Amino acid sequence: MTSVAGEPDDLVRACTTLGEFELTILTDGSYYLDGGAMFGVVPKVMWEKRAPADAQNRIQLGTNTVVVRTGRHTVVVETGIGNKLPEKLRAIYDAKQLLPKSFAAAGIRLDEVDIVINSHLHFDHCGWNTTLNERGELVPTFPNARYFAHRGEVEHGRLQLERDAISYRSANYEPLLESGQMTLIDGSTSEIVPGISVECFPGHTAQTLAIMIDSSGKRACYISDLIPTAAHLDPTWVMGYDLDPVRCIAERRRFYERAIPEEWLVLFTHDHSTPMGYINMAENGKPLLRKITP
Ligand SMILES: [Zn+2]
Repeated sequence: MTSVAGEPDDLVRACTTLGEFELTILTDGSYYLDGGAMFGVVPKVMWEKRAPADAQNRIQLGTNTVVVRTGRHTVVVETGIGNKLPEKLRAIYDAKQLLPKSFAAAGIRLDEVDIVINSHLHFDHCGWNTTLNERGELVPTFPNARYFAHRGEVEHGRLQLERDAISYRSANYEPLLESGQMTLIDGSTSEIVPGISVECFPGHTAQTLAIMIDSSGKRACYISDLIPTAAHLDPTWVMGYDLDPVRCIAERRRFYERAIPEEWLVLFTHDHSTPMGYINMAENGKPLLRKITP
């Protein structure tokens, strides 16, 4: 049984089964980023057909969290933007802070989650790792979960480099490291629990992780910011945000070499209306989405 949200305001973006696993795609709400930054060197006349821009040149994006129920574990991939951004930034991005409501809408309790995985530590991927509560305290959003992120991401964030310091907000991960609730991943592949593993696809950041979900011979892959939306399938349509765009092009090709013949269900991190789909190779050699309709 597969369903995809029909309305932009729906809090549950999609539900499907993968082998023995149940997948539910939740949202922290749509947000807005500059269209030029999202498509790098691609001219606007080309990208605006796929992603219409508003008067400020912003395009609508999603903040997709995937909940995987394996039967033994409840695994959360990515935690949106959260409720800790300063008001000025919250207004710029039009961040909606909906993820806890989205969990409630799906009937999933925050305290039943036992694993949380961050593909990388940019603020729009790990914002609800922690919650600023009514008393002004920073608490883990998922009190019973073990959190996972790549060690290289924490090390990079701590450098607070000119180029991307704004993306790394320590409140999203340092308290979890201090309490011992976050485990850091080393190397380029790692199994988290049976059926859930991660693999590095570098380029957006040096250690961006794809999350692989495997059950009964079927695979879904949360490819994160390597391919942020279904409008970014062309290997060369990489983002201005990518630290190494040339590597992104090579890594996308490496991804397609496996994802297309092996029929992976691709889960998109920032596509609000198309949270998942299968990819075909068109006759002109360009990857094409096979959309799953409601
Ligand atoms: Zn990112």
